[in-house]
Amino acid sequence: MEIHVGDRIRMKKQHPCGSREWDVLREGADFRLKCVGCGHQIMIARKLMERNVREVLAGGAGSEKG
Ligand SMILES: [Zn+2]
Repeated sequence: MEIHVGDRIRMKKQHPCGSREWDVLREGADFRLKCVGCGHQIMIARKLMERNVREVLAGGAGSEKG
């Protein structure tokens, strides 16, 4: 699964604020994600995140969807 800075991802688990969508702020061995609903930021290991991602939504740059 390819996930990059600027992408928006949808997780399987819902954040307490009610949103499932996160913006990717930093990529690497650990990813930094920001909750779209409440702005809360987390650090999460790549493997753990990949297990929890349901889908990658259209990012800002480089999206070929459509
Ligand atoms: Zn939230």
